[in-house]
Amino acid sequence: MALMTAQQYKDSLKDGRVVYLCGERVPDVLANPMLRTCIETAAIDYEMPEMEEYRDLAVVTREDGDRISRYYHVPRSGDDLLKRHELMVEATRLGSGAIPFTHDIASDAMNAVNITAALMGKEEYRERAEAYRRYLQDSDLSVAVAMSDVKGDRSQRPSSPRQGHPDYYLRIVDRNDEGIVVRGAKAHISAAAYFNELFVVPCRNMSEDDADYAVSFAIPVDTPGIIQVAHPIKADFGPLDFPVDIPLRWHTDSLIIFDDVTVPWERVFLCGEWAFAMPLVYNFAYFHRHTAASYRVPVSEMMVGMAQAMAEYNGVDKATHIIEKVTDLVIYVNMLKSLSRAACVDYVVHGGIPTPNPVITNMAKYYFASNFHRCVEIVQDVSGGLLSTAPTYADFSNPELSGFMEKYLGGTAEATAEQRLRMLQFIRRILCQEIEVLAVQGEGSFQAQRMTIYLESQEEIQKYKAMTEREAGISPH
Ligand SMILES: Cc1cc2nc3c(=O)[nH]c(=O)nc-3n(C[C@H](O)[C@H](O)[C@H](O)COP(=O)(O)OP(=O)(O)OC[C@H]3O[C@@H](n4cnc5c(N)ncnc54)[C@H](O)[C@@H]3O)c2cc1C
Repeated sequence: MALMTAQQYKDSLKDGRVVYLCGERVPDVLANPMLRTCIETAAIDYEMPEMEEYRDLAVVTREDGDRISRYYHVPRSGDDLLKRHELMVEATRLGSGAIPFTHDIASDAMNAVNITAALMGKEEYRERAEAYRRYLQDSDLSVAVAMSDVKGDRSQRPSSPRQGHPDYYLRIVDRNDEGIVVRGAKAHISAAAYFNELFVVPCRNMSEDDADYAVSFAIPVDTPGIIQVAHPIKADFGPLDFPVDIPLRWHTDSLIIFDDVTVPWERVFLCGEWAFAMPLVYNFAYFHRHTAASYRVPVSEMMVGMAQAMAEYNGVDKATHIIEKVTDLVIYVNMLKSLSRAACVDYVVHGGIPTPNPVITNMAKYYFASNFHRCVEIVQDVSGGLLSTAPTYADFSNPELSGFMEKYLGGTAEATAEQRLRMLQFIRRILCQEIEVLAVQGEGSFQAQRMTIYLESQEEIQKYKAMTEREAGISPH
């Protein structure tokens, strides 16, 4: 089997995984209404290869003729990176702003592990990484990436005696014939509750003292000792919401506890080689922030649509300051699109794999994240106070109130009260607090992107310095 169907994906989740939600163990993730919403969001990735209009984007034919997911294909060119970018944009559009997530972050980690194995020059690691990529291509499994450790005192290194205990970063506590045993916890891991495998990578550079924390591997989610605590999401429209034909799409994220988990050797990609934690982290981040910039395109497009719709409904779309604000949103979305595409065109090659340009990628993610709240503010400004105070659908549909609602909550002659209330409901749902935090923290804080931009630009900075010194007559022309 090279490609799973959506049904096969869902069936594959019937295993012994340990997932808690709202204080209770979930016996069957498929039967839980919140997780079911997330599973349907994820299933989009398995539906796309079956949809005529996306097949060429979603599927690649391997040398042996097997059809595999584009995500698990090794990119060979800037064009491959562009197609991957377009696939993520389209998948997120289908997900009403939520990327399905089943393969893309895993492919970011897989590429980084392949690159790191090539840099290490150790044949066994290269073979293991190749074998795992082949396994993913053949099985089409969904894989969550567990990078973010819980970290404890951020000012201290993982092995520092000043950390409250030694397990704030995931670490190797034993090595035996079977494999390694790991202990620790990873936080905020998207979609892990309903994916098949966990791909674990370190979240920072390591020193020699931190060698046991330099660990990377992949294992099935139901491996004994893995305990997940997921957080609740809004899973369905309730009686207070205007009913909508399109189902809700979203994900939950898990705190994952690794309570002395055994990982077989063939699935270990980094095991104490502390100097290679940094290349692994950085190469993952180059791909992953590009993934992030890609799947933020549809939400940015939606913000333009929200602001324009509300401005037209309220009859202010010709006001100068509103035109300026909508223009700001148009600049925002097109800047994000242009940077994301430029990172593919101007790619670099790491460990033999075309990699999205690190500086442009980090600029794209940073630009998106650092301007996100300003764009939310524009949508909030244009929408007016009803965004917060609007009566509910239950009020609107109450026969004693509906006449008043229709009469007093309309906008221009063309804009009905229902249109306005529906759009406001959509804005509240999409631009919720969770997406605001995700924009800022997801894929690393602002500082993580700025640091990468600065470090990756050293050559460029020195080039400009030399050029300036020549022009100033300090060095020979
Ligand atoms: C919705 C959501 C989904 C996510 N999904 C995933 C996922 O699937 N997989 C995954 O691995 N991670 C995931 N993340 C985690 C995300 O990458 C982290 O939130 C991010 O890296 C920040 O880490 P933190 O949350 O621990 O915050 P912190 O590290 O506590 O950062 C808070 C602030 O402290 C600063 N800071 C931290 N350490 C230092 C230091 N040593 N020196 C100076 N300043 C410092 C940061 O720059 C930031 O300003 C997700 C996050 C969110 C919000």
